[in-house]
Parts: sequence; C-alpha cells; structure tokens
Amino acid sequence: MATALQRVKGTRDLLPPETAVWSAVESRARAVFSRYGYGEIRTPILEPTELFVRSIGEATDVVGKEMYTFADRKGRSVTLRPENTASVVRAAIEEGLVGQPGPHKLFYIGPQFRYERPQKGRYRQFHQIGAELLGDPGPWTDVELLAMLVAFLRELGFTSPKVLLNTLGDAPSRLAWSGALADYLRPFRDQLGEDSRHRLEINPLRILDTKLPHERLLLDGAPTLDDFLSDASREHFAGLRAGLERLGIEYAIEPRLVRGLDYYTHTVFEIVATGLGAQNALCGGGRYDRLVEDLGGPPTPSLGFAIGEDRLLDVLPESFRSSVATAPPVLVVGAGGTPTLDLLEIVESLRAAGEFAELGGRTLKAAFARADRLGCQYAVVCGPDELAAGEVTVRDLRSREQRRVLRDELVATLRNG
Ligand code: AMP
Repeated sequence: MATALQRVKGTRDLLPPETAVWSAVESRARAVFSRYGYGEIRTPILEPTELFVRSIGEATDVVGKEMYTFADRKGRSVTLRPENTASVVRAAIEEGLVGQPGPHKLFYIGPQFRYERPQKGRYRQFHQIGAELLGDPGPWTDVELLAMLVAFLRELGFTSPKVLLNTLGDAPSRLAWSGALADYLRPFRDQLGEDSRHRLEINPLRILDTKLPHERLLLDGAPTLDDFLSDASREHFAGLRAGLERLGIEYAIEPRLVRGLDYYTHTVFEIVATGLGAQNALCGGGRYDRLVEDLGGPPTPSLGFAIGEDRLLDVLPESFRSSVATAPPVLVVGAGGTPTLDLLEIVESLRAAGEFAELGGRTLKAAFARADRLGCQYAVVCGPDELAAGEVTVRDLRSREQRRVLRDELVATLRNG
C-alpha cells in the first residue's frame, strides 16, 4: 500500500459537522456587517512580498520571521498573505476606491499564513474575519467599528465582550514616546531578554508587549505616552471613549497594549477571551491613518480589525453552536425488492421540493439502523404494492406510527405530520 500523505504542519482539515458551524458564524458576520454598510472584498492570497514589508514593517515578527515567502517561476518574490489589511489597502488604491468620496467599508473572511510555532489556538494557516473602514479620521467611526464588532460577538452569544483599548497617539506623539522609552530602558539593557534587546534598537514600543515578569517590573517606571500625547490625539481618544460610553460598550484602558504591527496610530484595541489558554487574543485592530499614503495612495485615514476565526470557534458559546444543527433527513427505503431506480426517483423528488432526503437502501433492517445513526424522524417505505398503487408508507420512527399516503401527498404529509 502507498504511504498516506499528511497535511503540512500547523494546518488543519475542517470537516462536517464543524464546518456547518464555521459557515453559520460567517453568515452571521455577513449579516451584521452589512447592517453597518460593509461590503465584502476578496483579495488574492498571494501578494508581492514588498507589500507586507512596506506596510507591516521590517522590524516586526511577522515580516522578520513568519512569512511564507518564495520566488515564483520567474524569480519574483511573492508571499502568502500573513494578514489582510495590507491587501485591502493595496486593492483599494489599485482599484481606485480611495480618492473617491468615502468612507469605504469593506469586510473579508479568509485564510492567512504565518510560520509560527504551532500550539493550541496558533496555526500556520489560520482564518480571519475582518473589517476595514477607509477614509474617515474618526473618532465616531472608531466608535461605530467597535460597536459593530461587539454587536457581532453578542449575536454569537458572547454576553459581555470587553474591549481592551489604548491610544498610540499620532505619529509625532508616538515617535517622541518611543524615543523616551528607549532612553529609559537603555541603562537596563543587560537585564533585558534577547528579544527586548533587539527591539530596543528597532522598535522599543514592542517591549511593552513583553510577558517576562522582570521586564514588566522594569516597565512600571517607564515614561507613558500620556506625557507625549498631542492635543489632537487626546481629543480623539476622549471622543472615542465618550462614544463607547454612550453606546454602553464595555472597555478597559490598557496602557501597555501596542499590538504587533507597525502601522497603527491613535486607537488600538484587542478583545481577549477566557478559555483560550496562552493564545487568548480573539481579535485585534486599530487605526492606521498613514498606511494608505505609505502604500502610494492619497491621504486616507482608516481603521479596522481582524478576528481570529479559529479561536472564535474554540470559545463559541454553546447557544450559537446548538442553533446550527441541521434537520435530519427523511430516509427513503425499499421493501421486498423495490427497484433502486424507483427509490432514486422518490428521493430526488423530495429534494426538489426542498426536503432533506437520503436513499436508505433496499432492505428495512439496514435502513432503520442507518436512520438511527442519522437521527431521522421519518422513513418513507416504498414497497412494490404501494408503488403499484401510486402510494408510499410514511413511518414515524419515534412513535412507530405509520400510514399510507398518495405519492402526491408525501411532501405535505412530511411537513404537517
Ligand atoms: P493580528 O493580525 O496579529 O492583529 O491578529 C488578529 C487575530 O488573528 C488575533 O487576535 C488572533 O485571534 C488571530 N491570529 C493571529 N495569528 C494567529 C495564528 N497563528 N493562529 C491562529 N490565530 C491567529
């Protein structure tokens, strides 16, 4: 026998019935997002490598260590997208969306690829449901985007999704803060771990993300952004908070939240979920006022979020999960040697009428065992006598009652009992 092949490390096969839950979550996202005026965008999975280097930033883990990058047959460097914001922005520029009166509201659902160490909740191919709002400086659009995110999670049955919120200020505020942080940390360089020593030189703000207890202690005395925040940044953040409060959206300020990608300005946020273990971030996002310009478009202040769909499914409330169960089929069964073609025709006519129907086979015993496995309530027994009279027998497998009906009345009988 040939050896069986295995899937690539860090990827997953998703099978029924779990895929039905994934589809239902995605349908709900489409329904909620369209109420807020969002339309779906589908961008290529393969992009020029430079797109991510220029947007996410060379110094980030994603670009530095995690991208699936390779040369195509003509030697051009291409990358499997590690996230979707950069692609959405590229498409919005290339297709001429930005520059037209906005805002442009786009959502996406699809796979992303990062070469990370696989563990629970962390995969090399994972899936995101995300939204981007291009062409509005906020802060009211920040409020609206978060309201939409929370509405979606509530509709999935999460009772009190809580937004962890921070501001990184505008670019000058952020630059001044980043410099001050580096100045503060440099004397402690020897006490920092290898990652943080590296970040100290290229991206000091990322050190705030650290999980190492002794580094966190050191950071307690570090300068905070508050000292460097411009008036405009302060106003933006205050407006956002006032909006969230008015709409009753729960949030907590998290001064150390900086997020892993370079392009954020002003608002950054995350939603964490219990039950996910170490990889507890369910969703992340923020404002990226300069990204469209950095990628060659006109000034277009924008923001967005991405929900990790794999993790979302891991903690999906049971109430939503159980609402997804599909109706068991009606089993069409022969008796006494009914020709298969007759059975096939009856199954197909039931399906054409919109019923879930399955061919149960030509003997009653095997068919009833199958009906049990599938959880069927009804079997349609089609013996030669019945068929000769233009009839079938509908058997309720739970109450064991049965009655003969005309074939023409079969659908109505199944629907009305
Ligand atoms: P990011 O694009 O890094 O802001 O991530 C947004 C969300 O995507 C995170 O909050 C996670 O839920 C999810 N995510 C990111 N990386 C992975 C991964 N390797 N495996 C599974 N989910 C991920």
